[in-house]
Amino acid sequence: MINIFLILVLIAVVITYWQWNKIKIHFWQKKYIGLTLTKSQKKLLLKVMPIYKNMTNQDRVKLEQHILWFLDNISFLGRGDLKVNPGMRLVVAANACLLVLNKPWPIYKNVKQVLLYPSAYYAKENKKDGAGLVSFHNVVRQGESWPGGTLVLSWHDVLAGNRLPEDGHNLVFHEFAHQLDQQTGFTSGTPQLKTQKLYKQWAQVFNRAFNQLKTHLAYGIPNVIHRYGATNEAEFFAVLTETFIEKPAQLQHQDPELYQLMLDYYEFDPRQWV
Ligand SMILES: [Zn+2]
Repeated sequence: MINIFLILVLIAVVITYWQWNKIKIHFWQKKYIGLTLTKSQKKLLLKVMPIYKNMTNQDRVKLEQHILWFLDNISFLGRGDLKVNPGMRLVVAANACLLVLNKPWPIYKNVKQVLLYPSAYYAKENKKDGAGLVSFHNVVRQGESWPGGTLVLSWHDVLAGNRLPEDGHNLVFHEFAHQLDQQTGFTSGTPQLKTQKLYKQWAQVFNRAFNQLKTHLAYGIPNVIHRYGATNEAEFFAVLTETFIEKPAQLQHQDPELYQLMLDYYEFDPRQWV
């Protein structure tokens, strides 16, 4: 009798473990569907985040549920004497969740924490010279995205990124795009895609556009994608994400094929929010 009981318990444990993600998603759906931000939270976003203001009600409802999920599941820590307040958490969460508006929970599988500095900060960087000697330098940074699920952001630059929603720069979009890229276990500029067909298109269109940016820079030809995107494929994806959301019409005009690739990946069209 005891043996049968133990076997049943074991089976229950195995099924729970095997179905854990589905159970969590079911729990989140029950918890967050139907919830919205408070009046004062909405008021703050309307004031500081122009894209939120321009969204349809339907999109705003989805975004708000993601924001509530994010605030419950991701921790925030102040750095350099910054006391993180609920408003700061809300603005970072709203920007981060916009990228995954139409993605299912868990919207960021690996993100664990956000470290917030008051403004740009110094970070140590090591460099190897030709003889293999390693030297350390202090470099000024606005943000970082670590593969382990930690993001570092300058609050000043988070706000600046929202103030001008059409300049192609948004620190939160940039760093969280790196997180989407890093979900694959690599930082390669290719995030997880839904179909083999999309991987094929990505390899062709993305690489062609990356090389085109480098050529344009070399010959002084204007390109809507900021020059920092030419650093490597990972930076190209992060900068392209900023351009896609903040300069959608220009990007679509310059490179309709690349724009379509981003539409297929992000599953929203930022032209409706301008
Ligand atoms: Zn970057």
